[in-house]
Amino acid sequence: LVSIRNVHKRFGALEVLKGVSLDVARGEVICIIGPSGSGKSTLLRCINALVPIEAGTILVGVTDVTDPKLDRIALRQRVGMVFQQYNLFPHRTALQNVMMAPVQVLKQDRRVVEDRARALLAKVRLTDKADAYPGELSGGQQQRVAIARSLCMQPEVMLFDEVTAALDPETVKEVLLTIRELAEDGMTCLLVTHEMNFARDLADQVYFTDRGVIVEHAAPAELFSAPRDPRTREFLGKVL
Ligand code: ATP
Ligand code: MG
Repeated sequence: LVSIRNVHKRFGALEVLKGVSLDVARGEVICIIGPSGSGKSTLLRCINALVPIEAGTILVGVTDVTDPKLDRIALRQRVGMVFQQYNLFPHRTALQNVMMAPVQVLKQDRRVVEDRARALLAKVRLTDKADAYPGELSGGQQQRVAIARSLCMQPEVMLFDEVTAALDPETVKEVLLTIRELAEDGMTCLLVTHEMNFARDLADQVYFTDRGVIVEHAAPAELFSAPRDPRTREFLGKVL
């Protein structure tokens, strides 16, 4: 579903991605791990065309993300993205936040969207918080609203960038559970995460990145128990 081939990205003199290739099949869960500054967030942002790339190709389905005539709205409808900072609209309720993009950007029928939004809030276990404002919700609840908001666009693939990094340990669990259920329902997921147990349990493949390259990737059982590259071993030694 997502095919990344030999992608190069630089910010000025800094080469952040140095020929990255990665594939995500429909229904797969792929985790990206690696040290700070290795280019993980940049890679996710490239997939969503939030940043342009200098070389290489990125395909989402048949859509060429580097096509200058790319329909960005259509792409972002198909590729959901959730960040560490949930960025909900503070003066809109949870339900309104979830409904906003399909109604305003995709011009979908409000009643149809509302039914879908309420079902999604139920799915992330926030039925009783539909009318709450973000300021009245915990960090974990806000992050689950952000996930529901992204899902309301009915994406084909979801990108998660360290969505639990800003949360306290208690609320991390509930957000990981939401993602787990989503993955078990068959959603294609590409996650940057520091949650190694989560990656080990759920990922089909784990990619280890360092300084703009993918050092190695393997099934989690293999990567965590028998990393081949010394850089992977060193990193895992620090985080496990
Ligand atoms: P972390 O684990 O800390 O989130 P990361 O692997 O996600 O790190 P990126 O955010 O992709 O790393 O950043 C990779 C490098 O690119 C860093 O050195 C960062 O300073 C640089 N960088 C990222 N975005 C920009 C930008 N918009 N302009 C200039 N440099 C940038
Ligand atoms: Mg990052």
